[in-house]
Amino acid sequence: MTRSGRKDPRYTLDSPLQFLPGVGPSRSELFGKLGLKTLRDTLFFFPRHFIDISAVQTIATLAPGQKATILGRVIHKKLQRTRRMANLVLRVEDSSGIVECIWFNQPFRDREFQRGNLLFLHGDVRYYDRLQLHPREWNIIQEDTLAAGEEAGQLIPIYPTTQGLGHKVIRGVIRRALDMVGREIEETLPESIIQSHGFMSLRESIRQMHFPEAFAAQEGARSRLAFEEFFYLQLLLALRNRFRKREEKGIAFKPINRLVADLYRGLPFNLTEAQVRAIREIYEDMALPEPMNRLLQGDVGSGKTVVSLFAMLRAVENDYQAALMAPTEILAEQHRRKIEVLLGGIPVRIECLTGSLDPREKERIRNGIASGQIPVVVGTHALIQEGVAFKRLGLVVVDEQHRFGVSQRVGLMEKGANPDCLVMTATPIPRSLALTLYGDLDLSAIDEMPPGRKPVVTRIIGEERRSSLYRFMQERVKAGDQVFVVFPLVEGSEKLHLKDALTWERKYRDEIFPDLRVGLVHGRMKGDEKNDVMRRFEAGELDILVSTTVIEVGVDVPEASTMVIEHAERFGLSQLHQLRGRVGRGDRDSYCVLFVSDDVGSPSLERLSILEKTQDGFRVAEEDLRIRGPGEFLGTRQHGLPEFRVASLVEDQKILDMARQEAFRVVQEDPHLRREENRILGHELSRRFRDRIKNIRIG
Ligand code: ADP
Ligand code: MG
Repeated sequence: MTRSGRKDPRYTLDSPLQFLPGVGPSRSELFGKLGLKTLRDTLFFFPRHFIDISAVQTIATLAPGQKATILGRVIHKKLQRTRRMANLVLRVEDSSGIVECIWFNQPFRDREFQRGNLLFLHGDVRYYDRLQLHPREWNIIQEDTLAAGEEAGQLIPIYPTTQGLGHKVIRGVIRRALDMVGREIEETLPESIIQSHGFMSLRESIRQMHFPEAFAAQEGARSRLAFEEFFYLQLLLALRNRFRKREEKGIAFKPINRLVADLYRGLPFNLTEAQVRAIREIYEDMALPEPMNRLLQGDVGSGKTVVSLFAMLRAVENDYQAALMAPTEILAEQHRRKIEVLLGGIPVRIECLTGSLDPREKERIRNGIASGQIPVVVGTHALIQEGVAFKRLGLVVVDEQHRFGVSQRVGLMEKGANPDCLVMTATPIPRSLALTLYGDLDLSAIDEMPPGRKPVVTRIIGEERRSSLYRFMQERVKAGDQVFVVFPLVEGSEKLHLKDALTWERKYRDEIFPDLRVGLVHGRMKGDEKNDVMRRFEAGELDILVSTTVIEVGVDVPEASTMVIEHAERFGLSQLHQLRGRVGRGDRDSYCVLFVSDDVGSPSLERLSILEKTQDGFRVAEEDLRIRGPGEFLGTRQHGLPEFRVASLVEDQKILDMARQEAFRVVQEDPHLRREENRILGHELSRRFRDRIKNIRIG
């Protein structure tokens, strides 16, 4: 009926699916579960991935040492328990033979597969007694997928499915929608961009995503769609960046070089080149009559505090106030102390405002802030509460940004009249994530450590070496060292069988190290209790500090140079790196022992081994992102990362860079998107980000 592509006047892109032939009420409900309501929805419902049938080889041709792709049926399944592992073993058969597929130590996968499943598997072929495949990727293929694949040729799209809705139906509906209303799909990128990048039209891209003619065509379609997703987000960020700079009047700080010169002269060390570069970038921003919005990234210990102090003193010598906000009281206190040391004799008053101060003290500091007598204030989010009013706030420094929401950053900035803003993070974020989350900021990175830092010797060990670990800890303490021991949990949990801080602090204190001084700190303790323990550890009154990840952020005890992390397999790589940053701050050799449980699998060990190999936080972060993906990388905390349908922050970094360049170029040339050729951009931008472009004047 509509194969010819003739437009059927009864249907538009926005027609409900329900009225499409072959759908009806019950199926449309199932489609609804996938989030699909209209014909348009189905056209933009892209396959999660593709199976390349041309890559499949027959089981009979497998040879050890290869990476191979096979397609076969599960004829037998068992969970093979050895003394230390539980391996899932599937026997998979195709028309040419049978091969054993093994997932080491992943007993939970047992539930994933059934006898009779048709499997697409990709992995390493090995020979141990017999031929085995160690899968790296796999898919259970619905029975009707291959049939539906006939017309797809070599590439079979795999859609997310739901109970009762198979591939055949999904593909049938998409095919019909494409035939009926495909021609209505309007282009969403300007002709000039399509031309200059050699992109396919949107319509063609959609067709190639669902019914790819060849691998290259599908890849071309995917790149275009990924580009488009990145591009519109970057366009939004570029407009925001531009808007802030041009439309809001900021402060042009003058290079007075009085306090700043004093600070420079008094430093007990030479700044690294990376620090000098960052300070220069910050000063250039601060000199402009536009608000600065800069992200300063640098690994733990790379020396961000002193950089931020250079910024703060520039503000102060211009008769403005500066505020530094940290995520925890411990951190805020430390910043204050570090700054006091760096200031030496420079007469600049600094105070620390946190929630746990007594009311009179709080009142005194608030008054000093309001009168302008306190030029530099460090604090927690207590700084953004009502009742805190600055006389003349000129610079806001926010430490550890990803623990705050953007709204808190803005909250502090609103205490001044368009103050400059410097955001610092000690968690190196891979470039693709930084461009997405902080893409409206300008970026500075301190990618070099102060000289003389020794690498933290990092080792992964298992339960069988526990007693030698204790001997090692004892030796370290005897040598004058202090030891952190980190647990993933405060309190034990029957279900998880994890060692926990409370139980083990008692064990350490009473049984294992009765002659050592053992302390405990965790997130459920009250602020002053916590501070008290930390103070005792810092003062050398404790030998071993049992803790949870509360010490992840900013604890600075140069004497402590050994860290033991229990259940290291439970932590993300970046988090472990962050924890490890707590040691190796003094001059002595430092150690990080990653203790893993017995039942941990080889992928987990492989992942952790990165930490044995490198100290570079940016490299660790890239690896962490690659393994866990952006959502997990950032943690479940609300992180404001947009969802991409097609684009990947891991795989598509080149496309992201291209999209960002293009977006910033467009905004540079046509800041309000008023040119005829850019009309399409304004329109599409409002459609995508309706409520996020309120303040931006376009069109
Ligand atoms: P970060 O905040 O980036 O984790 P800090 O600013 O706390 O790092 O610096 C860590 C330590 O290194 C501090 O004791 C600081 O005084 C010192 N430091 C900073 N810059 C240098 C440098 N260029 N040379 C030597 N030591 C430095
Ligand atoms: Mg400025």
